[in-house]
Amino acid sequence: MKKFAVIGNPIAHSKSPEIHAAFAAQFDINLRYTKLLANEGKFAPTAVSFFERGAGANVTVPFKEDALRFAEELSQDAELAGAVNTLSRQGGIIKGDNTDGIGLVRDIRDNYQYPFTDKTVLIIGAGGAARGVILPIARENPTSITIANRTHDKAAALVKQFNHYATISALTFEQLSQPFNIIINATSASLTGQHLPLNCQVFSPDTLAYDMMYASEATPFMQLASACGATAVDGLGMLVEQAAKSFEIWHGILPETRSVIANLRRNL
Ligand code: NDP
Repeated sequence: MKKFAVIGNPIAHSKSPEIHAAFAAQFDINLRYTKLLANEGKFAPTAVSFFERGAGANVTVPFKEDALRFAEELSQDAELAGAVNTLSRQGGIIKGDNTDGIGLVRDIRDNYQYPFTDKTVLIIGAGGAARGVILPIARENPTSITIANRTHDKAAALVKQFNHYATISALTFEQLSQPFNIIINATSASLTGQHLPLNCQVFSPDTLAYDMMYASEATPFMQLASACGATAVDGLGMLVEQAAKSFEIWHGILPETRSVIANLRRNL
């Protein structure tokens, strides 16, 4: 039986084993997918020991950059994201990929039916999550990508890194004065229930406001977007879609995701 795992710290909350079990059941694939807690600074020994027998691993907070260094070969998405969330043993080597960005794109484009093509996109935040989604969004040909971050220099650095791939610019929160078609909250503000310094000018009735975080209740960002007349959704579908892409990398088949998202939503 092939062995898979998700490596992180903390890891108890992870829904990945549940998601991969649901995917595997769709194809009668027999696999073992476990949660693996790695101590701080101990990602590499944990991964070495896992890959003595393991076929693939997902990697989550705080080890995505360690996984980038651990991989012997990288996909373009992983290289530009500066982070790896999917490791695979292929032949004698360990390949590193990043499926977070394609997960976000599929959730917004396919599940919520908001294509990025010819749309204005605002990404709030300039940490690892923001960096990981820029290239997959750029491939969808939006009109423009704007990045706003509390620490403006980090947004400016992302613009410099990605300006060959998209029409991309950085604005401060104070400079945000017009509506965007798609607004993605890639900050960790929702984790602590903090409010972002945004006003209703950035939202319109056509705006999709997407919080990468997910919870049983609307986040402060989603509450603001709804109050300003936009459609507000969370990132549960992104979690499932990034897992689906990892599953495809490991098993060569793309699972159906909607029923899996619906089941997780019922149990949030
Ligand atoms: P990082 O720590 O790398 O970056 C955090 C970002 O949030 C920075 O841009 C930081 O700004 C900003 N920020 C934090 N607090 C505030 C605040 N109070 N006001 C304004 N900005 C704030 O985190 P990640 O990029 O790794 O993760 C961000 C989020 O994305 C997390 O909530 C994570 O759960 C989510 N995520 C969801 C996924 C999914 O599958 N649904 C997948 C991956 C991530 P500054 O630079 O100024 O510090």
